[in-house]
Amino acid sequence: MTPAALRRELDMVIVGAGFAGLYMLHKANELGLRAEVIERGDGVGGTWYWNRYPGARCDVPSMEYSLGFDHRLEQEWEWTEKYATQAEILAYIEHVADRFDLHADITLSTTVSATRFDESTNRWSVTASDGVERSCRFVVMATGCLSAANVPDIEGRDAFAGRTFHTGRWPHEGVDFADRRVAVIGTGSSAVQSIPLIAAEAEHVTVFQRTATWAVPAHNEPLEPAAVAEIKADYAGWRRRARDSSSAFGGHQPRRDVSALDADEAELAAQYDERWAVGGLSFLRAYEDLLLDERANATAAEYIRRKIAEQVDDPETAALLSPDTIVGCKRLCVDTGYYATYNRPNVRLIDVSSDPIDRIDEAGPVVGGVVYEVDDIVFATGFDAMTGALDRIAIEGRGGRTLRDVWSAGPLTYLGLQIAGFPNLFTVTGPGSPSVLTNMIVSIEQHVEWIAAAVAALDDGGLHTIEPTDEAQTEWVGYVNEVANHTLFHGCSSWYLGANVPGKPRVFMPLPGFPEYRAVCDQVVADNYRGFVRT
Ligand code: NAP
Repeated sequence: MTPAALRRELDMVIVGAGFAGLYMLHKANELGLRAEVIERGDGVGGTWYWNRYPGARCDVPSMEYSLGFDHRLEQEWEWTEKYATQAEILAYIEHVADRFDLHADITLSTTVSATRFDESTNRWSVTASDGVERSCRFVVMATGCLSAANVPDIEGRDAFAGRTFHTGRWPHEGVDFADRRVAVIGTGSSAVQSIPLIAAEAEHVTVFQRTATWAVPAHNEPLEPAAVAEIKADYAGWRRRARDSSSAFGGHQPRRDVSALDADEAELAAQYDERWAVGGLSFLRAYEDLLLDERANATAAEYIRRKIAEQVDDPETAALLSPDTIVGCKRLCVDTGYYATYNRPNVRLIDVSSDPIDRIDEAGPVVGGVVYEVDDIVFATGFDAMTGALDRIAIEGRGGRTLRDVWSAGPLTYLGLQIAGFPNLFTVTGPGSPSVLTNMIVSIEQHVEWIAAAVAALDDGGLHTIEPTDEAQTEWVGYVNEVANHTLFHGCSSWYLGANVPGKPRVFMPLPGFPEYRAVCDQVVADNYRGFVRT
């Protein structure tokens, strides 16, 4: 029997204190629920708590990558740069936690290891590292899409004599690379942001590239007060336009509903030049079919390859850095000085596409029998995305069925919000929702508001549980696949497909198209929670 001090009765347990967990707690408080957030870090912030690597910034403009639910918050908070640094976003999240009085209901430095549904009481028990057994009606997994670090299981990894780091678990005190020889493994977004800064400090940097990445310039800059005032004067309009755009942002450069295939060379060059000059992810919104038609995509690919050649002095290095893949099939990177960094005498690019890193020995990574002697290794190797954080918790639903088993062939959800057989358990930006294909904050707000309304509707109706039917879930998973099949996202081995983690089932996990998705969520509610069973 657990002593009383180690038992806690709650309405809702929320796992994770990032944007999703904090906003869920705020909504739960508004509903008068007894809710608690459990967070494994020793501070709030989620992604922005963990990813403190040099150069870490958001690639969605800060005026849009911010909470829109509170008018005074969005008016009073002052962003300083077009793309906010990790430190500034973390300060913002801490401000949100203070401002909405959330700290009292957040338990830090505590890891949830298991949660189990008791069918006789309709309650979940939650097991966490602080030894407290929590019992609650609702569990909300606000665990993040990119929070379970992926460190590849390269032979001898632990034999390395130097220091190792993963970008997603960066030391709080920072890392001094002066006079160090550094290996960076990976060339995704985290590597693209960190390599220029590491190279500026270290004695030497060797980058191990398995797949060349597509990057467009950020052109980060301080925010001009006049531009900020213009947005703040019509923030509601900006938020509405974000919700109505397929990626849930894009204020200044929305998607043009024209085909790249209808444009001649001069038009293409002019359009891409314009987007390149502004910078950022809006490059992919230049034409409506860039992620739908390979020939359209090839026009963007050709343009970026030309830009890489212009920026990189050594033609061999430029060729190695030039992808031959679909632009945007893996998440497009936004760079500040990434390509130019390869012109530095202290930076070397090693291609490990056909000849992988065999092993890591005491001195460093070994490729094709050559030992690359380094002092430090930075794993910029990404995450077990979308399902990884959930997979690391033993989640047991009806009939003792575990989520790991139910998802063994790939994630199954209804609307990315709930899973059949797991009543009253919600996932914020779960697989099967637009999530990582959007401005995450807009998606998070939409999900949290949907969940809060669903919980309130249960209570108003004197009901106890909500969960999707198997049929609705199967139909939804089919729909997500069908939508994804019309895109070019299946054309590469991306983390969207789980292809970056050996043995993970290859299923395209997010759903393209935010406004259509939002309309379905609203219609489901209007149809009295169509596809859900409420008891
Ligand atoms: P990522 O995009 O998954 O990149 C991981 C890199 O590591 C890839 O280049 C991958 O190569 C490489 N890699 C993995 N295992 C390897 C191995 N055994 N040998 C050699 N190379 C290996 O991870 P990330 O850069 O951390 O970014 C993840 C996501 O987080 C992004 O796509 C983005 O959504 C988000 N993010 C956003 C920002 C931002 O807002 N600016 C910044 C960072 C991250 P392959 O491509 O061949 O698999």
